[in-house]
Amino acid sequence: MTKKIAVLAGDGIGTEIMAEALKVLDFLNADMSLGLTFEDGLIGGAAYDVHKTPFPQQTIDLVKKADAVLLGAVGGKKWESLEIALRPEKGLLGLRSELELFSNLRPALLYPQLAEASTLKPEVISGLDLMIVRELTGGIYFGQPRGVKTLENGERQGFNTLVYTESEIRRIGHSAFKIAQKRNKRLCSVDKANVLECTELWREVMEEVAKEYPDVELSHLYVDNASMQLVRAPKQFDVMVTTNMFGDILSDTAAMLTGSLGMLPSASLDVNGKGMYEPIHGSAPDIAGQGIANPLATILSVALMLRYTFNNEVAAVRIEKAVNDALDGNIRTADIYSEGMTKVSTSEMGDAVIAALK
Ligand code: NAD
Repeated sequence: MTKKIAVLAGDGIGTEIMAEALKVLDFLNADMSLGLTFEDGLIGGAAYDVHKTPFPQQTIDLVKKADAVLLGAVGGKKWESLEIALRPEKGLLGLRSELELFSNLRPALLYPQLAEASTLKPEVISGLDLMIVRELTGGIYFGQPRGVKTLENGERQGFNTLVYTESEIRRIGHSAFKIAQKRNKRLCSVDKANVLECTELWREVMEEVAKEYPDVELSHLYVDNASMQLVRAPKQFDVMVTTNMFGDILSDTAAMLTGSLGMLPSASLDVNGKGMYEPIHGSAPDIAGQGIANPLATILSVALMLRYTFNNEVAAVRIEKAVNDALDGNIRTADIYSEGMTKVSTSEMGDAVIAALK
């Protein structure tokens, strides 16, 4: 049975890194008879230029009928003065809500060859491999009531609401436990149950969900301690699951532990495992068009897609191992370059991954 992938390259370096990810995917598709088909669509500034909206109806139709979405990056100076609703980044938000992508997976994996890029000591960080699962469509970013009002004494008051229903917590819980089952079977749930009733419920529901996954070891941490542990001893974690806002903050910390933005993939999944896969970095307008961007985060996003949407662990591991082998060959794009290495272009890095796959 064929499976369709919607390919949305987007803006800036998006087109350059996507070309390399597709080269890798084309190779594996033929080599392993994966039965994947591809269809291009426009998103972000590229879509605005043609359709005057960053998320046109054609793209909505395409992503809805696709089995997975592979995205490059959106944004750039050219569109910065547009009203907010028309800016490229709104295309991404539209995509997330249209597909109900509630589970955001942000792995932080440090290849030992790049340990020098981290600001932490190599022994603390080398071999880091953790996954943060962030609830993406609920919590304080969406809770009502919200706003700024003027009190009777004339002072202004700002307010937001942290709200989660049991079913929302259960849904992200199941997603995180399933991911832990595919990894080292340890899940740490992060909350602030000592202060926030909403996350007291979060903890209770996580405990209930845990009963269905006896092979996964569940632990809990308060978010303040979790953030401290992430920089003190990050290798203690396998999978972490947390709310929208805590996940927003912790996943950026985890990403920066590795020190190399161009290496980190991400996934956003719906309840059936359909997903959108993209690098965590943006469209890098400062280097766009120069052929020097690092394509590995996008190539590694392809590996996540094969693992989490297409349940093909063998193909996913092949890509991850090929990236490792390419780095072992001492080639580096400019962002991860260090003395003694060979500096390569975006397409040369893609070629090296394919050579390693062969
Ligand atoms: P950015 O991630 O695009 O760039 C930050 C820095 O990292 C830049 O110096 C850039 O050259 C470098 N960089 C990023 N990816 C790289 C890669 N693959 N290889 C080599 N170097 C890389 O963040 P920014 O500069 O804050 O934002 C630029 C644009 O991207 C903005 O319009 C922003 O809104 C958008 N953005 C989009 C996404 C997304 O599409 N998911 C995410 C973040 C930012």
